[in-house]
Amino acid sequence: MYDQTLFAHCAVQICQVGRFLFDRGWCPATSGNYSMRLDEQHIAITVSSVPKGELTEEDVMVVDLRGQAVGSNKKPSAETLLHTMMYVRDPQIQSVLHSHSVNGSVLSKYYLSQGYIEFDDYEILKALHGVSSHSHRQAMPIFPNTQDMNELAEWVEHYLHKSPAIHGYLIAGHGLYTWGYSLADARRHIESCEFLLECELHRLHLGAFTRPIKQ
Ligand SMILES: [Zn+2]
Repeated sequence: MYDQTLFAHCAVQICQVGRFLFDRGWCPATSGNYSMRLDEQHIAITVSSVPKGELTEEDVMVVDLRGQAVGSNKKPSAETLLHTMMYVRDPQIQSVLHSHSVNGSVLSKYYLSQGYIEFDDYEILKALHGVSSHSHRQAMPIFPNTQDMNELAEWVEHYLHKSPAIHGYLIAGHGLYTWGYSLADARRHIESCEFLLECELHRLHLGAFTRPIKQ
């Protein structure tokens, strides 16, 4: 059984991060979901279909790493498998966060045929775990959207097996998944990735980074 005190503590932290992400406009309506590891077998995760601007501790529940509810009859997020697969594949992961921003939704459709977005030469890249210089090229893969979570989880697993050095991925027209070795790590990653997506959208609007020369 999981530690109830730890769960209560995690539920408070999940609500805090959820309200922060909602306030940034990255999880409108009932979109997005958030989780934290409790132990080797359990995670705390947001329940299905709850407005993220009104998140309370009652909206956080416990599931095991197969995604089955533990100690409650609440319904976990429809995308629970995309959380549990990360905790299973890397025992160090302590939190998984998922946003539905405008920038991520649009850019993931724009770049879907390429299969990834690449970011380089941005200072914010240093906020990603293991990156120490702006002079770094970071890929963010994009997977097609589907309601079949098993299929989506398989694509992500296959990609991570080949290319583990990523900090997040996009689902086309849907949103961003990030994770971290602490909730603070995951939150820093989601902020950094969303910042990079916003930069990329601005870059596309400008056409290039070269400034027009005054005549
Ligand atoms: Zn989603």
